[in-house]
Amino acid sequence: MVSRTTDDYEMLALAGCEVLCEPAFWAGFDRSSAAGFYDYFRQLTEYEPKRAAKYGIKHYCWLCINPKEADDPVFAREVMALIPEFLDCPTVLGIGEIGLNKNTRNELAIFEEHVQLAVDRDLPILIHTPHLEDKLKGTRLTLDLLASFSNLDRNKVIIDHVEEHTIAPVLDAGYWAGMTLYPQSKCSLSRAVDMIEVYGPDRLWMNSACDWGVSDPLAVPRCLQEMKRRHHSAADIQRIAYQHPKQFLSQSARFQP
Ligand SMILES: [Zn+2]
Repeated sequence: MVSRTTDDYEMLALAGCEVLCEPAFWAGFDRSSAAGFYDYFRQLTEYEPKRAAKYGIKHYCWLCINPKEADDPVFAREVMALIPEFLDCPTVLGIGEIGLNKNTRNELAIFEEHVQLAVDRDLPILIHTPHLEDKLKGTRLTLDLLASFSNLDRNKVIIDHVEEHTIAPVLDAGYWAGMTLYPQSKCSLSRAVDMIEVYGPDRLWMNSACDWGVSDPLAVPRCLQEMKRRHHSAADIQRIAYQHPKQFLSQSARFQP
């Protein structure tokens, strides 16, 4: 939402959205200093909740340094050192979106340190998987890394941006899987409904790609329309749109929809 206008908040409210969560992510540019992230974390924890509240929407967030800016481990650790003071904010749900971008060693090291931070504080984890040609390898590396944590509660982990070739290993390993909907590239509405029909709906949810590029905050309600068109029952639609996110996010004591 940090890269969207107030019109988007209004449209979300009109579509019936009452609660949203926003991951810390790559905001369309590389920040030049850790101080840039300090301001960003304040934006996520102080300003966006107020902006959303004007439209009757509760705004929650996840914190981390995203994988795209985490390839310099010295810089990444400077940013990570800022995170603990924000973890006490009442709208911070957990650590995310962490993970891999280009599947580098440095990204893996910082990813592992974020998972450790979440495990130490018993927080839910939101994981980004790489796009396009890096996705399959990145998902495998992600699953291997997570498997090395013997005390990780897999029910508290959602692996996001799954596609047809990565959804099964994620669900089979006991994690939640997120389908991120895009208007043009990557996972379309009809592909998401295909995946619900083939693999779902257990531990599956969907979210709207909503950022600085071509994306649509209303992708989720549009996908619910697609489910309706394909004769999914009202109960099934309600389950994937509302009950699943609520079930997963309620693992954070902070989440009070
Ligand atoms: Zn992502």
